[in-house]
Amino acid sequence: MSVGPDQVCGVVARTRHKMMQVELREAAARGAKFLEVRIDFLTKAVDFKRLLPFKGCPWLATFRRPVDGGRWPGTEPERQTLLRQAIVSGAFEWIDLETDIADGIRRFGPVKRVVSYHNTTATPENLDDIYDAMLKQDADVYKIAVMPTKPDDLRRIVELQKRATKPTIAFGMGEFGFVTRFTSLKFGAPWIYAAFNKERGIAPGLPSMDDFRTTYPVKAIGPNTKFFALLGDPVGHSFSPILHNHMFRRKKVDAVYVPFRVPEGQLPEALDAMNAVPISGYSVTIPHKEAAAVRAKESDPMARIVGAANTLQHRADGTFFAANTDYPAAVESLRTHLDAKALAEGVKPPEFSQLFVLVLGAGGAARAVIAALMRAGAHVTISSRTAERADNLAEELGCKSCDWAARHNVPQCDIVVNCTPVGMHPKVDESPLHASFLKPGLVVFDTVYNPEHTLLIRDAESRGCSIVTGVDMFIRQAAKQFELFTGITPPLEEMRELLRNAMSPLTKAMAEETEKSGGMGDDEAGA
Ligand code: NAP
Repeated sequence: MSVGPDQVCGVVARTRHKMMQVELREAAARGAKFLEVRIDFLTKAVDFKRLLPFKGCPWLATFRRPVDGGRWPGTEPERQTLLRQAIVSGAFEWIDLETDIADGIRRFGPVKRVVSYHNTTATPENLDDIYDAMLKQDADVYKIAVMPTKPDDLRRIVELQKRATKPTIAFGMGEFGFVTRFTSLKFGAPWIYAAFNKERGIAPGLPSMDDFRTTYPVKAIGPNTKFFALLGDPVGHSFSPILHNHMFRRKKVDAVYVPFRVPEGQLPEALDAMNAVPISGYSVTIPHKEAAAVRAKESDPMARIVGAANTLQHRADGTFFAANTDYPAAVESLRTHLDAKALAEGVKPPEFSQLFVLVLGAGGAARAVIAALMRAGAHVTISSRTAERADNLAEELGCKSCDWAARHNVPQCDIVVNCTPVGMHPKVDESPLHASFLKPGLVVFDTVYNPEHTLLIRDAESRGCSIVTGVDMFIRQAAKQFELFTGITPPLEEMRELLRNAMSPLTKAMAEETEKSGGMGDDEAGA
């Protein structure tokens, strides 16, 4: 486990003592240094003695009420009685006490106190007052967990963490607040929480302990750690955090890269809010690529031509520089392929000006690919499901368009590029082209990268076409971003291997998830 094992408090939350025992033992075996035991999850009469034989590290006892996002099933007097029993039981080194009850429960022996405030629906306007009042209470650590609903809430959470003079963990819940769980460590939080078992639905946005091994393998987060983020909506299934974080580790860069889900229309406010950290650079994805280009003070020529950016670099003067790395990644993927193919065939590599390209789709990816190919001199025809979108893009970029229904009848085609999501997980049995269109010698480039071997790519291979996969383009655009972020040129082959390794277990897990289709866990039915 990384993010410094000492910086993670694993959360064990099961409804049965037996399953709690299994997870406590397993967490200790995996090297957990500190665990929160969520007593409120236990549905039967709580018996601390049954858990004690499985103790392998210090424990924090928590009895969270439903109003604070917990599952305590009993009355408040019962809860406080059990809290007191936990304190004197000798089983726990730490106890979590909500701010409204903390003054009524006295410090006992060596048991340390987390005084906490939770708000699962909002980030209250008087959060600073709430925190200042908490600071007068007897605590070893203060915890603030709130739900941010707008970008400025994130700024207030980060600023609160930054001004803390006593040990404090302040973070936002949910996907929107996710980044602040990590930034809290930069500004002195003693630990962040992570679910031992990510399927338990313990708290919105809570990472799992395993995520620190697979997705965030950074050694530790401290005051000098730089932050990078993937800004988009959705961001949940992106491979970019895995790629960038593993590369940071391999290249010994003190940095972490986290997903940051920002709803459409909120990019400027989100960028302003996160200046409180600040975030050193962003990968930008749907639906913010155009807004990112507009927001930047300066852009590279590719972002200017395409009118969209997939990268934002934060400069020392606080302004942003926008880049489009999809554009060069697409051309390089094709150029490298054409050169290797020509070399293998013992012929001169063709110039783009000799080639006719059919591009399927008229969205953001198509825009970057077409602009790049046109500039390289290729003869491009766009075909897209919505004819008006294809016609407009063709007019804007100066190429031809054809009806979606007529895409199989273009008179000349050397290269076909799929820029639609057709064939992407989970609809892996779909292809944007009839297999009969795929003739030997044709170059088939599918920008879809999950899975790498889409039906279109498989059809193309079996019909004697040569192929370029979306993985190639994805790796190249990520490598260019990494270079902009760090000044280091990462090895493409290492990144390719990282992505393939990352994709195989995830693809498997996704397939299993689909198969289960909402199946319940062993002991969590109805939870
Ligand atoms: P986008 O802006 O949403 O555009 C998607 C395009 O595909 C639109 O023209 C859309 O047509 C069309 N489309 C969607 N579903 C379709 C269907 N079932 N049949 C036919 N056409 C369909 O998305 P984007 O940003 O361009 O991304 C498109 C794909 O490119 C992504 O799914 C991703 O796999 C790939 N991509 C790959 C990389 C890489 O590095 N490898 C980078 C960027 C994107 P309408 O206008 O009719 O909706």
